[in-house]
Amino acid sequence: DRLIAADEREGENRVDHAIRPKRLAEYIGQPRVREQLEIFISAARGRDESLDHTLVFGPPGLGKTTLANIIAAEMGVGLKSTSGPVLERAGDLAAMLTNLQPGDVLFIDEIHRLSPVVEEILYPAMEDFQLDIVIGEGPAARSIKLDLPPFTLVGATTRAGLLTSPLRDRFGIVQRLEFYDIDELTEIVARSARLLGVESDREGAREVARRSRGTPRIANRLLRRVRDFAQVRGGGYVDAAIADQALNMLHVDHHGLDHMDRRLLLAMIEKFDGGPVGIDSLAAAIGEERDTIEDVIEPYLIQQGLMMRTARGRVVTRQAWQHFGLVPHEQALD
Ligand code: ADP
Repeated sequence: DRLIAADEREGENRVDHAIRPKRLAEYIGQPRVREQLEIFISAARGRDESLDHTLVFGPPGLGKTTLANIIAAEMGVGLKSTSGPVLERAGDLAAMLTNLQPGDVLFIDEIHRLSPVVEEILYPAMEDFQLDIVIGEGPAARSIKLDLPPFTLVGATTRAGLLTSPLRDRFGIVQRLEFYDIDELTEIVARSARLLGVESDREGAREVARRSRGTPRIANRLLRRVRDFAQVRGGGYVDAAIADQALNMLHVDHHGLDHMDRRLLLAMIEKFDGGPVGIDSLAAAIGEERDTIEDVIEPYLIQQGLMMRTARGRVVTRQAWQHFGLVPHEQALD
């Protein structure tokens, strides 16, 4: 049901390659991030240095991986990519680090999920371009130090708050990605449609944009499904009416909420009278991981003003009740 499910990633990757922006100038939206990076990249290039270590955070699908690739392209260097959970042992990270060419970008996705031993290796590598590692065990164990080439670590995480502070402190540049507005997403959908050869008009692109949860990855995915629908039912052309019919069929409502969004909000309303409800009770009630709620589902609902996090737990807003055509119980909103 979830539109960003992992198992759908594979088919996505092929098409994705064609539509992923390669340069900063093609990166739509996020004006503040773009402006800052333009300056930092051009300054680093002017000094013939590698870019400072950069942390990018924000909900899934907003363009963190894309940005890491763009940084490497703009710096004119290579990119090696891995992720927190993949780096199980210190040696896994050491192998990546010793494989870097001078100036390379090392991209670590889900960097908040690094194990503590691996994180320990990362500190001197980030700070002094030094690898400090113990090889062997027991009496035969010895520690070796290696010089590493200068490199740029680009770390991505869904929430900056999940990082340990020693790790966070070692990033010179920290960028937060925001949900995209409808104009920006319309531009993204129109661009993808052009690159994929999907015939569409502005209103068709806008309808897809309006219902994409502020997220380019979802916009691109919905565009592909709408294209299928248009091909079979609409003569291949995506206009607002076709997009609307296709999205209704996919159970994406007019607010852009999907099945899981509705399930979460309705559980809060029906089972907890609108809240406040603790995150763990909520996770149990809808049979979803707490992390998924916090990283994937609720950020957009909070940004849209449909729910709030309070000291006593999550609460839905009046707007959420109204979304379902319900009248809030007055005491529920106190
Ligand atoms: P994340 O790493 O944050 O989960 P990605 O970088 O993989 O997100 O982005 C998901 C997809 O959305 C990309 O493949 C890309 O095609 C598209 N995308 C992301 N950001 C932008 C942007 N600013 N402009 C255009 N397309 C974007």
